[in-house]
Amino acid sequence: MHKDTDLLAKVLDQVPVTIVVTTLEGQIIYSNLFSEGTFSAVKGKVEGDSIIDFMNELNAQPSFAELFDFMHDGELDNTTIILEPALGSKLVYNLNSFVIDGNASAGEQFIAIIFRDVTTETQINEQIEKKNLEMAKINSELIRSNAELKKLSEMKSNFLSIASHELKTPLTSIKGYSDIIIDNMKEKIDSGVYRMIESINRAADRLHRVVNNILDVTRIEQKRLKLKPEFIDLEAVAKDCIDDLSQFTLKRNVTFTCKCQEGMSEFYGDKMRMQQVFTNLFSNALKYSPDGSRVEVSIFSETVERIHIVVKDFGIGVDKSEQKNIFDSFYEVGNANRHSTDAAKFMGGGTGLGLSIVKGIVERHGGRIWIESEGIRENAFPGSEFHIVLPRHSEISWDDDETKTLVVERERHDEFNEQDAASSDINEKPTILFIDNDREAVEIARMVLENAFEILVAETGEDGLTLAFQHQPSVILMDSYLPGIDGYRVCRLLRTQDETRDTPIAFFSAGTQNAEIQKCFASGADDFIVKPFSGRELVDKIWRLLMKKKEEETFK
Ligand code: ADP
Repeated sequence: MHKDTDLLAKVLDQVPVTIVVTTLEGQIIYSNLFSEGTFSAVKGKVEGDSIIDFMNELNAQPSFAELFDFMHDGELDNTTIILEPALGSKLVYNLNSFVIDGNASAGEQFIAIIFRDVTTETQINEQIEKKNLEMAKINSELIRSNAELKKLSEMKSNFLSIASHELKTPLTSIKGYSDIIIDNMKEKIDSGVYRMIESINRAADRLHRVVNNILDVTRIEQKRLKLKPEFIDLEAVAKDCIDDLSQFTLKRNVTFTCKCQEGMSEFYGDKMRMQQVFTNLFSNALKYSPDGSRVEVSIFSETVERIHIVVKDFGIGVDKSEQKNIFDSFYEVGNANRHSTDAAKFMGGGTGLGLSIVKGIVERHGGRIWIESEGIRENAFPGSEFHIVLPRHSEISWDDDETKTLVVERERHDEFNEQDAASSDINEKPTILFIDNDREAVEIARMVLENAFEILVAETGEDGLTLAFQHQPSVILMDSYLPGIDGYRVCRLLRTQDETRDTPIAFFSAGTQNAEIQKCFASGADDFIVKPFSGRELVDKIWRLLMKKKEEETFK
């Protein structure tokens, strides 16, 4: 039996946990060998001492005296205790205890306490927790800066959209006045001044293109680019675009060729937008190539369902490090000076918008675009290849509100075209009422129209209503932004009164945004005229409105 006790003590000495047995008062009667390590900060062997004093010396947290009270009452299960000796590092223990019976006849009882060192485990857990906390912080930072970036990008798009619309109003004046002078006053003014006016007119056209490009970019960024799909002949579209550039290609002696694999030209997509894709790529190819160079366009099948278009030039090329960025809006490599001649600057400085619009249009058609180029080399022309792959019949949704509106508008436009001939029998001078406080635009319209029409002008919605009921004009042209009652409300009111219920009404609009157009039609307008308008466009629209009214009266 004695031997058994020794054996048991030896085994307990090898167990890698601290085992202590105390009396009910806390006097230590047994501690295994491993406990020496635990209590080494106080002293070596501990038998005979009070466990509570010991623990106090080791600055145990929570207070060991309180824990010991619990130990009396029963078991202590997996309790954490921290020891912070004056000398030495902090230790964390997991504590279990239970009451054991000694000599039954004497009613002896003891408390066995087992300390398991969990310092390393705790430290690892603490570190993991700390890292988790840091990660959570970084994550929330990222989420916040992502949201901020998104907001900034939305603000930028909105700002660009508003600024571009605002630019369109003064552009109407510049373009309109210079059109009138160019069309009607060549003989009346000095030739030098005339050339300056022509230059102003070209600058207005250029600015108009830039403004439209910015509007396209914001549409793409805000995922509002709507398409009007139809079956188109891609080869014909590409060749038309090459023809349109002929005055520049001739000047630079750059040859364009376009080859199309038989049967691969038919594509279902938006013709106007595909023209934009080709024009941007071709004018870049021209802009970044030397005089006398060539550009090869090929259209062939990638698979039965996919059309592959390649625009290959032999120009300055694009550096590998720049190849991803050139499709970002407003990004320019800054290599414009590597153009071979000044004639290359035929379209003025770039804006870095062309390729981002091309990418937006291609992706909106369900396709993708990329560039292949060996990069830029000194005094060499490694060239660039722009590749586009398009699905022949895209699965994307074409059927959106703006598409419908545009289709209706286009159909209406075509109908009116057929009836143009009939317009010659209108002999009276019809009255046009302008409700618009943009004096410049009204003045231009007056100069264009006054030979053929009586002109009435109101600058507020209230005055407009009065003049409309008094004179019952043949056509009303109005702006949506008016001081006082806004244009949409004026239009609705006009539609409720017998005198003006059937009068053709068109809105002037600085934008072509779907929501704005929808609002015009919803308030009862028949059409809208986008600013800046040319004199010819204005006359054309007005005759169409008059013809429509006449036709409706005939079929009533
Ligand atoms: P930009 O109005 O500046 O031409 P783009 O978006 O069309 O704007 O093109 C972005 C940039 O990509 C250009 O500034 C030019 O550096 C580079 N780039 C585009 N096309 C070519 C090309 N065919 N060859 C060489 N560089 C090109």
